[in-house]
Amino acid sequence: MPKNMVQFQKGQSLPHFLSLYGTEQQCHDTLFALRWPDGFVCPICCHPEYSYIATRELYQCNQCKHQASATSGTVFDSTKLPLTIWFLAIYLISQSKDGISSLNLSRTLGISDNAALRVKHKLMQAMKNRDDQVPLSGIIQMDDSYMGGRRHDGKRGRGASGKTAFVAAVSTNLEGHPERMRMSVVEGFSSAEISRWSTKHLDPSSIVITDGLACFSAVEDAGCGHEAIVTGGGPESVELKEFKWINTMLGNVKNSIRGTYHSVSQKHLPRYLAEFCYRFNRRFNLKNMFKRLLYAAVNTLPIPQHKLSLAEDWW
Ligand SMILES: [Zn+2]
Repeated sequence: MPKNMVQFQKGQSLPHFLSLYGTEQQCHDTLFALRWPDGFVCPICCHPEYSYIATRELYQCNQCKHQASATSGTVFDSTKLPLTIWFLAIYLISQSKDGISSLNLSRTLGISDNAALRVKHKLMQAMKNRDDQVPLSGIIQMDDSYMGGRRHDGKRGRGASGKTAFVAAVSTNLEGHPERMRMSVVEGFSSAEISRWSTKHLDPSSIVITDGLACFSAVEDAGCGHEAIVTGGGPESVELKEFKWINTMLGNVKNSIRGTYHSVSQKHLPRYLAEFCYRFNRRFNLKNMFKRLLYAAVNTLPIPQHKLSLAEDWW
């Protein structure tokens, strides 16, 4: 699909969105239908009969007495925000081209900065979980990259201090067009780290094209074929067609994060990278983006406060 078809495709209009999800009842019914399309089933014992406790909007299993709500066990669990606010946040995030900062979300939704930050991070995590479930396959361009870094010690690129290392990979089809993208923060570029990352994120049938950095041969541990193209570095390597898309995407992600968020802390970078990739991977389907992200959110387990800081579990 040519680029302009991505840029000019129709999304979902705000009036149309509000006609579908403008009230708490509409949002609640939508969540219920997504979770229990064939009617309520107890999440604990799978029993289908229940009593509805209207005052607390809870469904109580007639067999094991477990109480569930439309939001329990999802990313919306225990939220104090109205569902209409959550749905609007999902709409704004999914319809914007480059994402929307939590500060902007806070202003637009009329909620506190902290509440907006939590909403934003929970939804980014839902995007990350969703994409991480499906390994990349096909012909994959892969590279090492770095973000940020404030200390000036004269070093650049690999080994520079203060920078966060991440793997970037783009799968392309036989015509060489980009299909899907994954970017993940890594501890560094060692064979062990690339081996672990590839096993999780690459389909064994893939062929991976990289530059000559030694650790990349570890993609073979995941069963992938590997082709290293040794370049002299510098501007001419950027123009090699084998690295065309990965270089384009790396330029785009850095501009996008800088433009929308100015700077992103190292510990939160995995989610911002995931958000960028999530949007790219669904670029031909802006109209359905809202529903897809809502689906991802419903299928993401609750994220308690201490996990929002994302000190571990980068992948
Ligand atoms: Zn039960």
